[in-house]
Amino acid sequence: MTSPAPRHARISVIGAGPGGLTCARILQRHGLAATVYDRDAGPDARDQGGTLDLRVDDGQVALREAGLLEAFFDLARPEGQEMRQMNPDGQLLFHHVPGDGELFKPEIDRGRLRTLLLDSLQPGTVQWGRALTTISGPADGPRLLHFAGGCTVETDLVIGADGAFSRVRPAVSPAVPHYSGVSFLEAWFSDVDQRHPDIADLVGQGGAAAADGERGLFAQRNGGDHIRVYIIRRTPADWITQNGLTINDTDAIRALLLKQYAHWSPSLRRLISDNDGPYVDRPIHTLPAPHTWAHNPTVTLLGDAAHLMPPLGVGVNLAMLDAAELALALAGAHHRRRHPRLRAHHASPLHRDGPTPGRRRRTPAVRRTPRLRPRRRPPNPAEEKLKQVRTAAQHPCRPARPARPAAPWRRLTEDQRGAAEVRRTCPHRVAGAAGVM
Ligand SMILES: Cc1cc2nc3c(=O)[nH]c(=O)nc-3n(C[C@H](O)[C@H](O)[C@H](O)COP(=O)(O)OP(=O)(O)OC[C@H]3O[C@@H](n4cnc5c(N)ncnc54)[C@H](O)[C@@H]3O)c2cc1C
Repeated sequence: MTSPAPRHARISVIGAGPGGLTCARILQRHGLAATVYDRDAGPDARDQGGTLDLRVDDGQVALREAGLLEAFFDLARPEGQEMRQMNPDGQLLFHHVPGDGELFKPEIDRGRLRTLLLDSLQPGTVQWGRALTTISGPADGPRLLHFAGGCTVETDLVIGADGAFSRVRPAVSPAVPHYSGVSFLEAWFSDVDQRHPDIADLVGQGGAAAADGERGLFAQRNGGDHIRVYIIRRTPADWITQNGLTINDTDAIRALLLKQYAHWSPSLRRLISDNDGPYVDRPIHTLPAPHTWAHNPTVTLLGDAAHLMPPLGVGVNLAMLDAAELALALAGAHHRRRHPRLRAHHASPLHRDGPTPGRRRRTPAVRRTPRLRPRRRPPNPAEEKLKQVRTAAQHPCRPARPARPAAPWRRLTEDQRGAAEVRRTCPHRVAGAAGVM
């Protein structure tokens, strides 16, 4: 079978994370239908996690293509761009306070971003409670999506936006995520201005970080008077069971952490000891970099499913940029097929020499013209947008950042950080899209 035109294709996006929802939204804006399947029981089934900074050269580019940039600015917290870097003694090494109107990377809570994207979709776009297990069917389609519980759905194009442990990925690549050697343990503080004023002062309106090369702390203010702290350590993935504990042994975990951070200042140690409620363990996994796969006309990946990397503040941004590029590439193909003249333009450069016979018959003015007028190529808005998105994504406009002490997760992942830049421009981020164009 040959892939149907994108307009007629049944496009299935697996995963209602920031990548999948952005992709569906941009497809729908360009008149393409897409269904999103997510394993969560509903939009509020679980805590969406911490705050995100959406950057001018990737996340915001995608939001603009989704027609949601203004709405994002209404919800975002520009003051969240404040950043403090300290040493383990608690001395301030660097403090960035955002200037008036600075919108380089405003913060937004993940839950709010998800709601913004969900509300922008046509009703019924997302099917909740659909956990993909496998994909079957020939490479040139149609494909069968198999969901837990036995339900199957036939589809023409599968977009794997299902995160780190993607069930779509095996259809195009044997790569599996491996443990990076670094774990994030999450601690949570509520009602901080009232109940934890010292911690609120330490963190300010944005984030505060400290590291000693082996371990680190990163605290970030979330909306709703919450602070989330990531306790970052180089440790075996199963450190909790190795210590004979479970994740619910809050007091014992706290005692262990306080030993490991014994040489840190009391003010910073409070970030690991004064938290409300249990910790959340987040071992950090990565995919090999670069991760590429052979072209497949009916399956592709985006976001963490394609290039899982440590939390360097770009994962969501790149997932959304992937989504925009892929959706615009598909929409570009759609426009080419919808306008036969445009398709003819792509098929052969010869038609530039003059109008087609059919056009001549319909347009006496052209028939009378002794010198044939060159035909103007019908504009393809999606292709133009794609060019703009790619230009913006490659623009080296990030402000220079001061040197910081080596943090364990940064030191460990030098090659991954380089790879993030490579991925930003790597055609493999949209490798599978070409088949349906
Ligand atoms: C501790 C931590 C902190 C981070 N902080 C930042 C940050 O500050 N800034 C930043 O840019 N990035 C950050 N990241 C990275 C960021 O979270 C990811 O890069 C981003 O969420 C990837 O988006 P995605 O849409 O590709 O996948 P996800 O956000 O992982 O979304 C995947 C979706 O797919 C669904 N799903 C999964 N499996 C299935 C299945 N089998 N069937 C159906 N649905 C499925 C999930 O329910 C989910 O909704 C952080 C990561 C971690 C671990």
